[in-house]
Amino acid sequence: MDDIDFATERAETFNATALQMVLRRQSAAVSTGICLSCSEPIETERLEANPHARHCCDCAAEEEAVSRRVKRCGPR
Ligand SMILES: [Zn+2]
Repeated sequence: MDDIDFATERAETFNATALQMVLRRQSAAVSTGICLSCSEPIETERLEANPHARHCCDCAAEEEAVSRRVKRCGPR
């Protein structure tokens, strides 16, 4: 029983965190337009395609590659 309660609690915490991240991302996106990693202006085309982008094309591609590498080499 305790396990089920704990799992429910964790799921609720995760949902709240995910929601906060989405809200935070949306409020930060429109005001910046500057890459958070290299402080270069984010490409206009990229912002038009994704108004919530926080990184320029180069840094976003780099971050994607890193997260993919982490997933691939993560625990099996
Ligand atoms: Zn950048």
